[in-house]
Amino acid sequence: MKILKFGGTSVGSSERIRSLLPIINSGERKIVVFSAMSGTTNVLTDVADAVTRGDFRSAAEMRDELKERYRRVIGELFSTTDSQEMAERAVEPHFRSMIPNQEMGVSGGADKIIMAQGELITTQLINMFLNESGVNSYHMPALNYMRVDKDGDPDYYYISENIVREMARGCNSNTIVTEGYICRNAFGETDNLKRGGSDYTASIIGSVIGATEVQIWTDISGFRNNDPRYVDNTSIIRELSFDEAAELAYFGAKILHPSTINPARMKGIPVVLKNSMEPDDPGTVISSASVTAEYKAVAAKDSITVIRITSGRMLMSYGFMRKVFEIFELYRTPIDMVATSEVSLSLTVDMHDNMEQIKGELSRLGNVEIEHDQTIICVVGDFRPEVTGAAPEIFQALNRFPVKMISYGASPNSISIIIDSKDKEMALRELHQSIF
Ligand code: ASP
Ligand code: MG
Repeated sequence: MKILKFGGTSVGSSERIRSLLPIINSGERKIVVFSAMSGTTNVLTDVADAVTRGDFRSAAEMRDELKERYRRVIGELFSTTDSQEMAERAVEPHFRSMIPNQEMGVSGGADKIIMAQGELITTQLINMFLNESGVNSYHMPALNYMRVDKDGDPDYYYISENIVREMARGCNSNTIVTEGYICRNAFGETDNLKRGGSDYTASIIGSVIGATEVQIWTDISGFRNNDPRYVDNTSIIRELSFDEAAELAYFGAKILHPSTINPARMKGIPVVLKNSMEPDDPGTVISSASVTAEYKAVAAKDSITVIRITSGRMLMSYGFMRKVFEIFELYRTPIDMVATSEVSLSLTVDMHDNMEQIKGELSRLGNVEIEHDQTIICVVGDFRPEVTGAAPEIFQALNRFPVKMISYGASPNSISIIIDSKDKEMALRELHQSIF
């Protein structure tokens, strides 16, 4: 059984939804996961903010505009007045629940309930449309089986127990449709898998039911070997290993939710990135069978801050790193890259919320320097020491730019280099020329 996930742009209009029919209606049994129509979750985030502020008027205005868009789609999608009216009646309660009753007061999880409505509406509409179009599809509600634990990680035990029952209810249908992104939390309340989380839904389902493949359908044909906004002659990467894909997903301009790789890797299930505008394009296949190549891709991530701590106390001592890392843990700030010498430690973060407090605490351990507006350039490939040597092409290409930090050897699949963001475009081009 395959899992197919269609993202917001793939379901962004009535024509786009209609064009999915041949892909979905292809014989074999499958589970199809949908995101909300493109832009919906952004609007719902604003609605939730307005409701939380108590600004019910703006919330209702935004909701009404969204509703108008969905009404147009319903008008275009369904062929008879009867089925149009039925669809409008079906989604009405979802639009109503976007604005909580003012007198009752706004409860804690109200924002999550509001943000869940996009996937709920979109999936329900597409299920009705599929059935009207002669596809025997069954709507399996994600809130009946998808659940995260207290740390926000998938509760695999709960999910496997419950999805079996839910799938059995749809046993007469060749196509089972379900909502991406939304779930319940450890308390049973409506919650979500964070922005872009529909990809994650698809791979969690895939791993729980032992799918043969997880397909992520978007409006591009997979990962490119460099950023086409800055570099000419980029090409699609046809094969990636799970590890290479996990590195790229972090940099990948929202192509794939970074958590998606893990559940699929656990069970060795291939993840295929496909383009719903060009369904015949093979896309990018992520699997354990991927062949390694010396250089596969270059990717960049901006808004990186480098923090350097220099301290004589580090010399020949133990426990220094722990003290540094504890400060970041205290402020719930993930550290991405680390490099150390005998008396200094450099690290990078991409979350800047508590920078001042972190700096204050670090100052007690040594001299602290902070540099903002840095970029991580990551080269993905086969860097096993016995294969590559020192990857001289990379450093040759970058020799005109001040390099702030290098991470080499931590992963056999990637080398990461920190440079000033202003040098990024040139550096990406030079690297592309030199390694591809
Ligand atoms: N609709 C959600 C979002 O926009 C989830 C997703 O698209 O994957 O973040
Ligand atoms: Mg996405």
